[in-house]
Amino acid sequence: DVTQLRVGLGERSYDIVIGSGLLTEAGARIAALRPGARVGIVTDRNVAERHLSTVEAALAEAGLTSVAILVEPGEKSKSYGVFETVVDALIAARIERRDLVLALGGGVVGDLAGFAAAALRRGVDFVQAPTSLLAQVDSSVGGKTGINSRHGKNLVGAFHQPILVLADTGALDTLPLREFRAGYAEVAKYGLIDNAPFFAWLERKWEQVFAGGPARIEAIATSCAAKAAVVARDEKETGDRALLNLGHTFGHALEAGAGFSQRLLHGEAVAIGMAQAFRFSASEGLCDPADAARVEAHLKTVGLPTRMSDVPGELPGTDGLMDLIAQDKKVSRGALTFILARGIGQSFIARDVDPARVRAFLDTER
Ligand code: NAD
Ligand code: ZN
Repeated sequence: DVTQLRVGLGERSYDIVIGSGLLTEAGARIAALRPGARVGIVTDRNVAERHLSTVEAALAEAGLTSVAILVEPGEKSKSYGVFETVVDALIAARIERRDLVLALGGGVVGDLAGFAAAALRRGVDFVQAPTSLLAQVDSSVGGKTGINSRHGKNLVGAFHQPILVLADTGALDTLPLREFRAGYAEVAKYGLIDNAPFFAWLERKWEQVFAGGPARIEAIATSCAAKAAVVARDEKETGDRALLNLGHTFGHALEAGAGFSQRLLHGEAVAIGMAQAFRFSASEGLCDPADAARVEAHLKTVGLPTRMSDVPGELPGTDGLMDLIAQDKKVSRGALTFILARGIGQSFIARDVDPARVRAFLDTER
């Protein structure tokens, strides 16, 4: 059972292939695009332990030479230091212009390896083999790559589209449940943005999505198609790509407030942020409170947090959160930009949100 989407960005269009067991086909699919290429596999130790031998065997079987470069798992690997190590290892492995980089892992590996591929010899091709749910539905699609700076996350990077995305939905079976749930927040997000029937489908089928099988493939394919469509319309994020930030303005403030620690994963912060965006929309009279309640109920049902009180430990107070929101890039000249909703599947970009209203809302959230 394999689903294939073509992401149309003119000459640089590429396939996103989604299905169970695809890592065993990585060699054949890559060889079909780049016969004889050398492949620099970038992966982290968690993923390497579980999936690297499968990929290496598949590449070898297709007659491709590969070299594996392992990094430590976690956000800390999106650093200048690790970037330097990876690029130098790719050079040492003689990955040249006609060769390619294969990112095998979650969003950290995808962002890091994609940026290394963009920089190496001014750009070598790369293939994404995302192994976390978040990477399969979000970070592997859209061509954003990069690392973090001491000044903030993802501040250094490049737009570099992959030539192929291979999303092996079976590889998610080894993903810790908490990570799966966090990625699921982004899946639900696509329903909440502009696809109410998809959200309703998730309400009915989420257990099958978690369990694996056809429903998981369908959920991931629908999510990828949604992201790819937005990206194709707006590759460089000038217009409606901003809708993808639903839940992310509140979410980023909470993530930062929790120190970007294991206390609150990105997707968990987004779950709270989406619930808040709907509650805020309801309190502003934009959206039926019943829709906000439905959003919260579904996220809760799958085991995601929906309230600040669900986060263990201390979070900043309203003032601190307002400062963090103001530092976020989505602020211009005093007014705040938020993604708000008129209902499930009816999100919109609100560019002139009065900070005083947000402050008052956050006070009610305590
Ligand atoms: P991650 O890459 O750190 O993966 C989460 C954890 O799961 C890690 O410990 C990893 O080792 C482990 N893991 C991954 N796949 C596994 C598997 N199949 N089995 C067992 N363990 C597995 O984090 P993530 O949530 O995948 O991605 C987060 C990153 O993505 C952030 O750095 C974020 O900035 C970035 N991101 C980028 C974009 C983009 O457009 N480029 C979009 C969203 C997020
Ligand atoms: Zn996100």
